[in-house]
Amino acid sequence: MSKEFSIIAGPCSVESEEQVLLTAQKLSQTVKPDFFRAGVWKPRTRPGSFEGVGVKGLLWLKKVQTEYGIPAITEAGCANHVEKILKHGLSAFWVGARTVANPFSVQEIVDACDKKNISVFVKNPIHPDIELWIGAIERFLTAGIENVYAIHRGFYPYEKTHLRNIPRWEIPIELARRLPQVKIICDPSHIAGKPEYIAEIAQRAINLNMCGIMIETHYKPEIALSDKEQQITPDLLAKIISELSFRKLSADTSEYRNNLNDLREKIDAIDFQLIDMLEHRFKIVDEIGNLKKDNNITILQLERWKSIIESRLNYANPDNISKDFLLKILQMIHKESIARQNKIFDERK
Ligand code: PEP
Ligand code: MN
Repeated sequence: MSKEFSIIAGPCSVESEEQVLLTAQKLSQTVKPDFFRAGVWKPRTRPGSFEGVGVKGLLWLKKVQTEYGIPAITEAGCANHVEKILKHGLSAFWVGARTVANPFSVQEIVDACDKKNISVFVKNPIHPDIELWIGAIERFLTAGIENVYAIHRGFYPYEKTHLRNIPRWEIPIELARRLPQVKIICDPSHIAGKPEYIAEIAQRAINLNMCGIMIETHYKPEIALSDKEQQITPDLLAKIISELSFRKLSADTSEYRNNLNDLREKIDAIDFQLIDMLEHRFKIVDEIGNLKKDNNITILQLERWKSIIESRLNYANPDNISKDFLLKILQMIHKESIARQNKIFDERK
């Protein structure tokens, strides 16, 4: 994919020849995606639900490629899937969120890639373990596979929100920092879980300079056999894409650059002040630790901790800093302070 921004669209699952061809036809007339996605083997949590049509679906995906000129991708969960995908003339696949968590499976899939000029899309694992995600991508890169992309599909929702999966945007940001050569594509469908949140998630991905979106699209979502609640029609996808605001990484005008530099200098100065102040605060925390130790006093002083939270949250102007954020910062500082005082107690037994 050489374009700056890529669109991957298509149904969650291949259901029938008619369903993939109708969806592909509509997409080719509207969105013109760079890849047509559809799973032929579906990893289902419980047996008995629709587990995909299997190999015959690959023949229909091949038809999408020849009739509409859109390269097709499907999910590979084991070496056998990869062999069948390549044998049927597809040259791209994705590794799903469940498979990525198993290094044995990922390595098996890598070893089955007999060609190097294929495109592989590696989804993040369900649980927010960035090392597993990076490790899976590295297995493909070190095997010499040319086009490896990361797909951000959100993480298991330990905290309940309106979304199906929690985006945890800081994780793909960290992936971009650690593997800058790997492009990241966002999967707003599996994050949103419902059509109404897809546009918002896609826009956030663009704001973070992600290089594409994968959106589940079905010619008739209401009859879909999997992920029915989140699939959208090609027309709605076209509308969503037309309303997205695409951003650039930088602007060439000297006015923009000068303004940005001035503001960044201020931010730099504030960050160093914050570090100085935290260092100063931790010195006092250590003095208190020594005092508690000398007097055999418990480290946790609940009343003091409660009054710190209450007074700081009351002091802050909620228009300038959210209470949730401030509470998180205070909790992190308190956690570190307790750890430091524990160390003091352990050192001077
Ligand atoms: C899918 O893309 O249909 C899918 C199964 O996704 P994930 O592996 O992200 O759950
Ligand atoms: Mn799906």
